[in-house]
Amino acid sequence: MLGKQKTMEAIEKMFKMFPEAHGELIHQNPYELLIAVILSAQATDVSVNKATPALFNAFPTPQSLAVASIDEIIPKIKTIGLYRNKAKNIRACAQQLIERFDGKVPRTREELISLPGVGRKTANVVLGDAFGIPAIAVDTHVERVTKRLRICKLDASVLEVEETLMRKIPKELWVRTHHTLIFFGRYHCTARSPRCEVCPLLEMCQDGKVRMKLNSQKK
Ligand code: SF4
Repeated sequence: MLGKQKTMEAIEKMFKMFPEAHGELIHQNPYELLIAVILSAQATDVSVNKATPALFNAFPTPQSLAVASIDEIIPKIKTIGLYRNKAKNIRACAQQLIERFDGKVPRTREELISLPGVGRKTANVVLGDAFGIPAIAVDTHVERVTKRLRICKLDASVLEVEETLMRKIPKELWVRTHHTLIFFGRYHCTARSPRCEVCPLLEMCQDGKVRMKLNSQKK
């Protein structure tokens, strides 16, 4: 396992590779981000970004979404996976924003998680990107990269990955680290074809070294 110092070395190298890493869900305000993140579960940010302009044009506020019918919402998000459930969730979420939070997106994890369709990962993305509150959202990229680099234990749960990262990384870097790990996993250390042969982290990556060895044996 990489200790605090080695972990920060690895993260710093990633910062250099992806200095512009940022959230890729297009949004204008916390309401739009919250809805976009709910829609992004088991779907790509690209597919969500294609659908949300028409969705937010039709339902620009929680008030307008809360009173929409499911049949009005579905055509706007039909290109996104699990759209039927997501239509129900985003409407129920908008209704609760009105009923319980005066139409505003709440700023605590506990309150966010109490909303329909919102889990810990979604809550953390909203905290970090909508409000600048330090949080690390663990998605498939964050989990894969941190396990390959042994920043986290291989058998760590998603919550344990988050807690390990919070222990090893200074709080002021949590949001940037979250985005950078996602860019690193999405564009470099990908699930199927990690680019170990050109990876600046190879020296500290057991997984990468094993892959390189296996690759050279195949040749
Ligand atoms: Fe990922 Fe390979 Fe780099 Fe390790 S060496 S971090 S597995 S790309």
